[in-house]
Amino acid sequence: MSKPLVVITGASSGIGEAVARQFSEAGHPLLLLARRLDRLEALKLPNTLCRMVDITKRDQVEAAIAEAEKVYGPVDCLVNNAGLMQLGMAHEQDPQEWDNMIDVNMKGLLYGIHAVIGGMRERKSGTIFNISSIAGIKGFPSHMAYCGTKFGVHGISETLREEVADDNVRIVTIAPGAVETELLGHTTSSDIIANYEGWKQSIGGAIAAKDIADSISFVYNMPQNVCIRELVISATRQQ
Ligand code: NDP
Repeated sequence: MSKPLVVITGASSGIGEAVARQFSEAGHPLLLLARRLDRLEALKLPNTLCRMVDITKRDQVEAAIAEAEKVYGPVDCLVNNAGLMQLGMAHEQDPQEWDNMIDVNMKGLLYGIHAVIGGMRERKSGTIFNISSIAGIKGFPSHMAYCGTKFGVHGISETLREEVADDNVRIVTIAPGAVETELLGHTTSSDIIANYEGWKQSIGGAIAAKDIADSISFVYNMPQNVCIRELVISATRQQ
């Protein structure tokens, strides 16, 4: 039997890319979204539509998902992964960076949900993974706005889960600790970057994007009547 469509936002690097490879190996058709189309296409995954979408533009998100559903049928799984981390101390940081993170990490995530949730409810089936962070559970200095958005993801996710549980739709919050990806590259303070890298060394290094992809695959492949609501995944030595 052919496998259903999986949509992954932010699949051009890091966790999203690893998740895309994992679902593709399992035989799913994919819709991959990001702004760096060349990076999506370089993955060369079969049965895959790659679309240049800025997740903060709701019309682009909706159009790409509608197009993929025409080709591959309804979305059974959305991995709401696109994210931005710009660290900075509250008294120093340019508030534009706060806007950027709110737009991508919260509004973008909501737009993904909006595009698929109605169909999932009607079909009484589907799974949405919302990628939060341990920074969505506890605070860290220099992470004020980032933590704010990720605490928000936990709130959105858990509220939506309550809302759609009766329709047999699974909402899963994934909270990774430090993962080795390009995420830190958007922070402008070299001091904060150096501290972060030093901290990663002190915990024996960050975990790999594939570790998160393996966890998502495990949760997705549980029967539809079993919902692992939240997973916190980190390096063993991360506190
Ligand atoms: P990366 O920077 O490697 O990946 C981020 C992805 O998000 C890229 O594919 C990027 O694509 C996409 N993205 C960013 N802005 C937009 C936008 N406006 N429109 C569309 N796509 C966008 O980092 P990670 O893989 O680490 O991050 C993935 C998720 O995991 C994020 O939500 C992050 O907060 C979360 N996370 C990561 C942790 C870590 O330590 N790495 C820890 C905890 C959570 P492009 O630039 O091509 O648009």
